[in-house]
Amino acid sequence: MPDPHPLTGQPFASPVPPGTGWPGDTADADTPVARNARDVARLARTADSVPELGTLISVCRACPRLVAWREEVATTGRRRSFAGQPYWGRPTPDFGDPDATRLIVGLAPAANGANRTGRMFTGDRSGDWIYAALHRGGFATQSTSEAAGDGLALKGIRIAAAVHCAPPANKPTTTERDTCGQWLVRELHLSQERLRVILALGSFGWDAALAAARAAGWQVPRPKPKFGHAATATLTTADGRAVQLVGSYHVSQQNTFTGKLTEQMLDEVIARVRELG
Ligand code: SF4
Repeated sequence: MPDPHPLTGQPFASPVPPGTGWPGDTADADTPVARNARDVARLARTADSVPELGTLISVCRACPRLVAWREEVATTGRRRSFAGQPYWGRPTPDFGDPDATRLIVGLAPAANGANRTGRMFTGDRSGDWIYAALHRGGFATQSTSEAAGDGLALKGIRIAAAVHCAPPANKPTTTERDTCGQWLVRELHLSQERLRVILALGSFGWDAALAAARAAGWQVPRPKPKFGHAATATLTTADGRAVQLVGSYHVSQQNTFTGKLTEQMLDEVIARVRELG
């Protein structure tokens, strides 16, 4: 039974079929679908641009457990307050400026956030934090991010994730992390000529960024740089350019509700990302 999109009112099935008009959906019924880790590696190599990579990511079905979970949440497992809305129920592609010099690497979409709205950090408390900070830092056109199609745009920065599908209990398995990490490796390949800074949210994002950099043939310091809020490390791309990796505590409610991460701390780290990029 289709439900109306909260902004456009257009009815959509859940999960949203590719190419049916969801705001920002660049895939269609002919977009090739990755069905296992080998497909991810193969298809990622066919992407010649960051937007093309996002299109491929948005229809990926390589991780059976995550596909089952994201679709279960999208159909029978919706949060009561969103029960009348369609749920994206597909992998959440990267969002932001395709020519950015700065890349944010988060953990994974939230089950009732990006898994519902189809856009990174959109429609949940974590998104309230990150987009408000990006707006204060001059990267986002607005401070809120409620639904795809609301006009939000990012300039000079893009948001990616270690894992593009919502995982049960926010915990991807090692295999899922490694499988999805191949999309991130391609992202680094495609953007390494302009990329200057990677902001890793949480230790999971930090480790994913380091692993992807290594797999992309970049030089990573040894011993492995340690994650911390405002920690930095210098990575070197395959063609010898320096990229600064900056850490931040994740904008999860666990950190923002408890005061482990304050607005000021996040603003300072975003200001550092602006300065370095
Ligand atoms: S987590 Fe990544 S690799 Fe796995 S199904 Fe989702 S998009 Fe594909």
